[in-house]
Amino acid sequence: SSMEPMDLNASIMEVVSLVRHIFLQERVRIDTDFDPTVTPIVGDRDKLRQVWMNLLNNAFDAIGADGHILVGTKMCSHRRRVVVTVADTGKGISQKDITRIFDPFFTTKPAGEGTGLGLAVSFGIISDHKGRISAISPAPLDYLGSDEDKTLTAPPGPGTVFIVELPLTKEGL
Ligand code: ADP
Ligand code: MG
Repeated sequence: SSMEPMDLNASIMEVVSLVRHIFLQERVRIDTDFDPTVTPIVGDRDKLRQVWMNLLNNAFDAIGADGHILVGTKMCSHRRRVVVTVADTGKGISQKDITRIFDPFFTTKPAGEGTGLGLAVSFGIISDHKGRISAISPAPLDYLGSDEDKTLTAPPGPGTVFIVELPLTKEGL
């Protein structure tokens, strides 16, 4: 793998731009709330793009149609970390399932639609970056933004937020 200095906000935005129009066809809107003070991290561009893609696709699948995804970054200078959050208004994850979502081959999707590998692979990639990934469901409202969403035509689900923490320096890599 190739660890090099990279702009986290740009890496996320690349993936958001790729899927935004496709998601909008099902009236799933992606908004971003990037912290402009985020400094470069040392990371593997391709692999982190894969993580954002996995998280966005999962959020989209959980929504089905009519919903909202909010992707945010937040600089956490005192802990030398940056936090990425991907929140959705989808169907949520049961407390039983949430302990298994990072297990290889765990999927609740119909056969042929899910491999159950996306989160296991993402967990590995974030661990390789000395970071952490976790999920909370229902999503606490502060992760979903406060602006009223006029494009929502169906009631939102309980939702889920994925939280990725990445170290800001190459220390330990
Ligand atoms: P797959 O997407 O192929 O099922 P993943 O490893 O990406 O595999 O996800 C595993 C499971 O975790 C999914 O099948 C789903 O049950 C659950 N999951 C992941 N992300 C979300 C989400 N945003 N909302 C609801 N459930 C989710
Ligand atoms: Mg997946």
